[in-house]
Amino acid sequence: MNDPTLIGPCPEYEHDLVDLHDGELPPERAASVRLHLAHCARCAAWAAGFAAIDARLAAGITAPALSPAFDARLRERIAALRGPADRGDLRTRLEREHTALVHSLRSGARLRAVLGAAGSVATTLGVLLASRRLLEQGIDLLPTLTDGSGHPLVLGATAAAISAAALAWSIARGGLPLPGLKR
Ligand SMILES: [Zn+2]
Repeated sequence: MNDPTLIGPCPEYEHDLVDLHDGELPPERAASVRLHLAHCARCAAWAAGFAAIDARLAAGITAPALSPAFDARLRERIAALRGPADRGDLRTRLEREHTALVHSLRSGARLRAVLGAAGSVATTLGVLLASRRLLEQGIDLLPTLTDGSGHPLVLGATAAAISAAALAWSIARGGLPLPGLKR
């Protein structure tokens, strides 16, 4: 398993890679993450995969949204907290928390989507490997089963392996989570 996309990024860079993609890293940190990306195949592969999936999600679903009543309820709560002196501060703080909450919901949803897709790929690969092992065992058995002219059995086993892989791939594709559709 030396496919870097199955390992994931260096853990300490995962969130920064998402923020870099969104253009939300401070310039200094962005420069250092880009430098790391230039030398780290794992992070580069993961960032490319993330960008591709993010583009597909952005094209296919509407952005996750809080219920329409959320803003109204938040404003009511802010209005109810009538501390005349520091109301402005409190309001700013609550609005900042609101923005941070919405942002973390977005990032979290997309991270889960990427991790889910990586899991599906790993599952597919596992079935492929299992199929190959079955196929190899089938070839070992051939001489005893077919007098040496074993082509029909080889083709049958190959077809079975391909069918299993195709089935796993379909399941993996169908199982690609699209959290924005439900939340
Ligand atoms: Zn890395």
